[in-house]
Amino acid sequence: MHPQGKNEIEKVLEKLKSKAETCQRCRLHKTKTRIVFGVGPATADIMIVSEAPGYWEDQRGEPFVGAAGKNLNALLLQAGLKREEVYIANILKCRPPANRDPLPDEIEACRPLLEGQISAIKPKFIIALGRISAGELLGRPVTMSKEHGSLVDCTYAGTSFKLFPTYHPAAGIYSGRTKLELQNDFRKLGEMFKKV
Ligand code: SF4
Repeated sequence: MHPQGKNEIEKVLEKLKSKAETCQRCRLHKTKTRIVFGVGPATADIMIVSEAPGYWEDQRGEPFVGAAGKNLNALLLQAGLKREEVYIANILKCRPPANRDPLPDEIEACRPLLEGQISAIKPKFIIALGRISAGELLGRPVTMSKEHGSLVDCTYAGTSFKLFPTYHPAAGIYSGRTKLELQNDFRKLGEMFKKV
């Protein structure tokens, strides 16, 4: 049972979303089409934290749509999960131009929104997609080739959870080896869920 009621958490998330809609804390507010706040159940046990919206996400205001969404949904199935069960968010709520990596000052400016989401939802697990997301949550640089595919204890914004770092699904599109590693990681995650 979640410590807070579902309605209360939804209200907190709605307030944060309104803040994001008018946010001008970093340069990205000038170039975005719309914010991509996050989507999923307010009381989800599992959260996905990725890096930033891409082109289609920016157009539609939802994370992981189009080909990227299809790819993620297929990976979630490998872990025995349905997309509707997980809450999906990004570190940045606005798209960086030309899909470049988030800059440190943008991550810092957007941090209160991610902190607010995690401390409201209080997930038991977070799947971090990509080294930037894993690094933000762990508070240190992450070498994904060494650290992907295992559960580690993590505390962020006063909330403790198990973190599962893995590659960003977009990396799997370009490299066959990364694609296989991603599929293995999600399969392993499914096995880990059965044991906890
Ligand atoms: S990326 Fe985050 S901090 Fe920057 S303008 Fe958008 S909501 Fe604000």
